Amino acid sequence: MGIEETKEVHLMCPTCRARVTFQVPTYVFHGRENGIATIQVQSDVCAHQFLLMVDQNYSVRGTEKVDFEVTLEPQRQDIVDLNFGDVLFRFKSYATACLLHAVIFNYPIQIVTSARDQPNLYQQLKTLFTSILPPEWQKCVEITQISTRDFQKLPQSQKDVLIVDTEGIIINMPWKEEKIQFEKNLLSAITGYHNVKIQLDTIRVGVEELFDFMQAAADLVRGKNSIFDTEMDDFIDAKGPVKKGRGFLSYLLKLFDRRLLDDPSLCKKVRLKTIDSMLKSLWF
Ligand SMILES: [Zn+2]
Repeated sequence: MGIEETKEVHLMCPTCRARVTFQVPTYVFHGRENGIATIQVQSDVCAHQFLLMVDQNYSVRGTEKVDFEVTLEPQRQDIVDLNFGDVLFRFKSYATACLLHAVIFNYPIQIVTSARDQPNLYQQLKTLFTSILPPEWQKCVEITQISTRDFQKLPQSQKDVLIVDTEGIIINMPWKEEKIQFEKNLLSAITGYHNVKIQLDTIRVGVEELFDFMQAAADLVRGKNSIFDTEMDDFIDAKGPVKKGRGFLSYLLKLFDRRLLDDPSLCKKVRLKTIDSMLKSLWF
């Protein structure tokens, strides 16, 4: 199998229904029984951007509008320190949000690189993404790099790792239902800032607020035998890093689960009021 081998898929732009053809590199499905790759497509037919979900039979499983746009100029003159403009330029906005999500939620990351990429790209990414975490959470960021050629030699790809190539194709996503709205918001917040330090600080402050809030919410739950989701929602609305945080509770619980490993009882203490009242009406 040649490295540059591709398969053509035909799809329809979800915004304007223009017919678009896209070449999917076949290596992304190597070693996978039932893989779905997520690809951010910039259509040259209609200039729209969207996400394409394609399976290993090259059937289109879905298309989705990219609901956020981030444009930053890559700053190539500074080749030592990678910045978010470079990352967005390379990986595109959706995969960059996924990289952020993996770093915040402590999922290992594997970058699949081509001959065009720097051999130490993973190290540059690790330096950048480690620096957005508060110091006490920095030690475990795990980013590795593998060439397309070596990736195809692996018996199978790892399911619990975010695998992304440098075209921004998401080869494996270790999470299923999680929303990455928080990460999209973080990236949207840096649009328009040309100064790379301000971009970095904006993201860093956002992540710090998230981790501070996670600790505060964990303290609230620790002090109780159980707590209803409605009370958690009120706490999020009052003090959380997002307003109108209904969907944020599941994000927060997942963060407890991934980050506060010493305290596995936290999630169990949060009870869903709607389900509780449903069960009561069934039982009594
Ligand atoms: Zn279109």
